[in-house]
Amino acid sequence: MCFEVKERDLGGRIGTLRTRRGVLETPTLMPVVNPVKNTIRPAELKDDFGFHLIITNAYIILKHYGKEARDVHEITGFDGTIMTDSGAYQLLIYGGVDTTPEEIVRFQERIRSDIGVILDVPTGGFATKQEAEQTVKETIRTAKESILWREDDTMLWAGPVQGGRYLDLLEFCARVMGELDFQIHPLGSPTQIMEEYDYATLVDMIVTAKRALPPERPLHLFGAGHPMMLSLAVALGCDLFDSAAYALFAKDGRYMTQSGTMRVDELEELPCSCPICAKRDAEDFAEVTKEEREGLLARHNLYVVVEELRSIRESIREGTLWEHVESRCRTHPKLYGGLKRLLEYREYLELNDPVVNKMVRGLFFYDEVSMCRPEVYRYKERIASRYSRPKGKDILLLVPMPEEKPFTKSKIFKLVKEFFKNREDVHVCFYGDPFGVVPSELSETFPLSQFESAIGLGKAWRESAEGFIATKGYKEAFILGQELKGAKTINSLEELKRLPGLLSPQ
Ligand SMILES: [Zn+2]
Repeated sequence: MCFEVKERDLGGRIGTLRTRRGVLETPTLMPVVNPVKNTIRPAELKDDFGFHLIITNAYIILKHYGKEARDVHEITGFDGTIMTDSGAYQLLIYGGVDTTPEEIVRFQERIRSDIGVILDVPTGGFATKQEAEQTVKETIRTAKESILWREDDTMLWAGPVQGGRYLDLLEFCARVMGELDFQIHPLGSPTQIMEEYDYATLVDMIVTAKRALPPERPLHLFGAGHPMMLSLAVALGCDLFDSAAYALFAKDGRYMTQSGTMRVDELEELPCSCPICAKRDAEDFAEVTKEEREGLLARHNLYVVVEELRSIRESIREGTLWEHVESRCRTHPKLYGGLKRLLEYREYLELNDPVVNKMVRGLFFYDEVSMCRPEVYRYKERIASRYSRPKGKDILLLVPMPEEKPFTKSKIFKLVKEFFKNREDVHVCFYGDPFGVVPSELSETFPLSQFESAIGLGKAWRESAEGFIATKGYKEAFILGQELKGAKTINSLEELKRLPGLLSPQ
């Protein structure tokens, strides 16, 4: 086994990937390195930035150095793990490559690549369904053949998943690839979808691939490298990223931040304290040559990526990945659209999220989207399917969730308790968002008493409360302060005294 999961949070995981050059911690990003010319020397990527894994292009090496090319580590001057892409990207962009799937597999072994990629056929972002189907067929055929051409079993091989935005094709491709002898699966063709900022579709694609692939194999999101979207992809289960964005953006005078990209010549002040920015002013970028500026920007951009990867990994360890994703996704409406799409995948997140709570503090709820968190889904699911009311508690009294936590220490709870001190049959439960219905005897368990919410009384609790009343078999149900199907509304406890019937205090 070359990949081992150490920690989880949501669908995200911290893992170790073992290659013949050493052990790498994931999630991580591999900077894309041009084998011929680079803004930042590959050795510097390792020594100054801590990247032990880079990706370069076997097809370009083949074209530039010919069939007799040397070891890729020598060519690039990088002694860490090197993944080589196969030229499939060139196939997508230029419509053809001057090699064959067999040649490029054998060539990657020859140049001692540590992780190879087969010459798959990318679906791209604009294919018709019929075209997409063809790319999936071709990719699977090449994948099966490629396994037969492989000779060096110390090398890892990546089997890309194609199908693009056609989720049924993507799922089929992932299922077949997952049964073949590959160690890593890149998710192909997201580049154009990301360029359109269509993060909702990207979420669909990642979840579809993850569900169909074996969980013990790392998923690599091809071409994703902007720090603002990494955490969302990690939360869905992506382990590896590669990106040339740091260098491409630099060439174009663009300065990355955790929340977006700015033009460096429009900045008055540098909002960063990386080793590049700490000793410079924004105007310093205008005073250097174009080439120097590119080098400075590429380095700054990489520092931003490194910082984001570190804080993502740390938030997985802390169990705060959700908060991290939520704050990043609020930096762009389209990204927020991606986050909202998670509403449809609550079950998937819940399934992958560890049940053991390792949070050092409570959960934060900002709005309805925060309610996609697996803790909410899990709680509501369990209350609906497994909870039975305590024996003898035949009368339900729903009171609003108080601000104080645990709820049983609240003023309202004490008041109700006092009011019904002689009634064993009254069951006090709290209603409200985000958790729906919280029976008082559960209110001190995590996370019911450890959360902060800005949601107020939304709408979602109603469905939970109505379901609760309909299925838990109370003789009578009352609700304080709201209208609700299946319950009698009371507006104050005092009103109960005047009501004939079950709930008059005895
Ligand atoms: Zn900086």
